[in-house]
Amino acid sequence: MSKLFKRTKILATIGPSTNTAEKIEEVIMAGVNGCRLNCSHGSNEERDQQIKWIRAAAMKKGRSVAILQDLQGPKIRLGMIKDNRLDLAKGDELILESKEFEHNGEMIVPVQYNLAEKVKVGEPISMFDGKIKTEVVEIVSDTAIKVKILNDGFIMSRKGLNLPETDFGGDILTPKDLADIEYGAGSDYDYVSLSFVQSASDIQRLKQLLLSYGSNAKVIAKIETKKAVESEENLEAIVKAADGIMVARGDMAVEAGAEVVPIVQRKLISLCRAHSKLCIVATQMLSSMVDNPEPTRAEVSDVATAVVQGADVVMLSDETANGKYPVETVKEMKKVILYTQNHSRIASIAGLPIGEKSEVYDAISDAAARLAERIAADVIICQTASGVTATTMAAQRPNLPIVSVTPNQRVANQLALNYASSAFCRPYENDFGIKLAEELKASGYLQTKEGKKDLLVVVVSGDNNIAGTDTIKVRKI
Ligand code: PEP
Repeated sequence: MSKLFKRTKILATIGPSTNTAEKIEEVIMAGVNGCRLNCSHGSNEERDQQIKWIRAAAMKKGRSVAILQDLQGPKIRLGMIKDNRLDLAKGDELILESKEFEHNGEMIVPVQYNLAEKVKVGEPISMFDGKIKTEVVEIVSDTAIKVKILNDGFIMSRKGLNLPETDFGGDILTPKDLADIEYGAGSDYDYVSLSFVQSASDIQRLKQLLLSYGSNAKVIAKIETKKAVESEENLEAIVKAADGIMVARGDMAVEAGAEVVPIVQRKLISLCRAHSKLCIVATQMLSSMVDNPEPTRAEVSDVATAVVQGADVVMLSDETANGKYPVETVKEMKKVILYTQNHSRIASIAGLPIGEKSEVYDAISDAAARLAERIAADVIICQTASGVTATTMAAQRPNLPIVSVTPNQRVANQLALNYASSAFCRPYENDFGIKLAEELKASGYLQTKEGKKDLLVVVVSGDNNIAGTDTIKVRKI
């Protein structure tokens, strides 16, 4: 039965290719568990419309679907360039001006952020996904800087800038982010992700802001800056401060070098599992499918590698936002996930030596996962209020499905992205996990093994008298 369930989840970015109720429904039906709404593009009103379409499609499918608001962070972009192209040659000098003006083709271009307040002479800045490398040569005024162009090429309107050496001094939230956070707190988001995180304090600041606006969204740290990845302590502190991380491989490659990406990916997946945090692997997973109906072998291998390493989620960006084949891409990703999970095992986290202290909920989840596998249970059922029981259960990466029941729809939506988890919202009552298992058996969603009439379930729950998660039961249903 476990073969039917996709254990690694799919997060799809919504964009022009999927910007209708029909397309959103199609990708969700094809296997999408969560949708990313990118604040770098489009308006709040467009995103509110997309949220309505996603919720309607999830309701139709009868599954929880997570919605993630992706904050732009200090993803500094150029403004509009005349005729959408400015050719540059090695040795040219270019002024980046943050005051609003219309570009007229000269070597002074608009930029959406006041770099004069942050950069120092000598720091590198790259533009257009690293295609143009530059170095700061002068702070020209309170609002403008001058850079020297280090290679031939061209720039286009709204292309991004990377500043790998610039210290934003714990102030990475831009005025746009602050406005998006305030607006988003009143919208129906389950997760908020922050781009270009440099330290744990960036995450703490975002969490405080969300709390002050009454939002119960979880926070994802996008790992992409050189500063975030160059120290192991800093990386672990970010993982601990956040509810999850995204391995944002696109900008990470520009900021820290493409060669660091696979190692950081592996390290982050392990850290997330050790700390029971959500781990999303993002960018270029099936990028040739933006234009082609089939992926390359290397892309298939990349998705399979993330699955074997134990990522909770694999993400699609341009493939579903701007690609020609959004639905086919989701189907392809699902096919790779299912084949991989059914033909290779994910190593469980090494058990702690006897006597080593761990949190009660972690120890209970560890014991429940081993028990479920030893007795060849059909499913692990989590009764969860805050989602902690289900999240720590997922961190064990058991080789069988986890079905969670919670009285809180927000928690159910959030768990849609956790490894192997399907979450259902039901009013709280005694043994509501067992009642859900009965319901799902009757509906055919949970099926017994061939020749068996009972479902063997392991129920993990808590009644809060010890430390949240405190009880394991085995039942035949
Ligand atoms: C990335 O750089 O890999 C990424 C996910 O960020 P974005 O798509 O928001 O630029």
